[in-house]
Amino acid sequence: MAQADGLALQQTLLQQLRGLRRAGVTHLPPASQPTDPDLSSAQPTDAGMNASSPPATGDSQQQLDQLRDCVAACTRCRELADQRTQTVFGVGDANARVLFVGEAPGADEDRQGIPFVGRAGQLLDKIIEASQLKRSEIYICNILKCRPPGNRNPLPDEADACREYLDGQIAAVNPEYIVCWGAVAAQNLLDTTVSIGKLRGTFHEHAGAKVLCTYHPSYLLRNPSMKKKVWEDMQLLMAELGLSVN
Ligand code: SF4
Repeated sequence: MAQADGLALQQTLLQQLRGLRRAGVTHLPPASQPTDPDLSSAQPTDAGMNASSPPATGDSQQQLDQLRDCVAACTRCRELADQRTQTVFGVGDANARVLFVGEAPGADEDRQGIPFVGRAGQLLDKIIEASQLKRSEIYICNILKCRPPGNRNPLPDEADACREYLDGQIAAVNPEYIVCWGAVAAQNLLDTTVSIGKLRGTFHEHAGAKVLCTYHPSYLLRNPSMKKKVWEDMQLLMAELGLSVN
């Protein structure tokens, strides 16, 4: 639990520091040394507070690596921890402008330890390519880091338990844009019960990032006619990113 408390403190500090940076505060007086040696290297530095100098790649990657270790050992959701092959933390650029959030690992993800693989992942790759993006330039993760049995939806308690890790990933990557794939991702991230059909088609806000919600690739496999809506949503993102929309 001490590690979890430390992560919560780290998350709170990161949020506060990002708020200060946006407010134009570029320097802070030296802080006292953290007492938890496991988290000492994850504390933001003065250099990272300079608004004109974003944190070095290593800072974000280091934070993600520490979170990944915590997740790999996590047993907060007993049923999921007992049945998983492995945790599925996240992949991609630690300093990505765009962060994708999905629902939870499926069977393929559980086997490979990578989010969005299998048929849904292949469709996502096509959407990424059509949007003139590269998977390696995006950071991709899920609401849950462990596979729910039978691919059921995450339970509210599970999503709550895992939220700290998602928040940590978002704080570390500090993306300009977040894309929520599917209702579970969108409703959990934005803490709303509004349907995905109503959330999509416009930008929302979370942690300083513009949030776009759209249908999950698994849903598109069952309902191909909805691909048009996802393409409309991706065009919104492309326009924001300055990519040509044909
Ligand atoms: S789903 Fe998240 S909180 Fe639950 S056991 Fe897995 S890593 Fe831990």
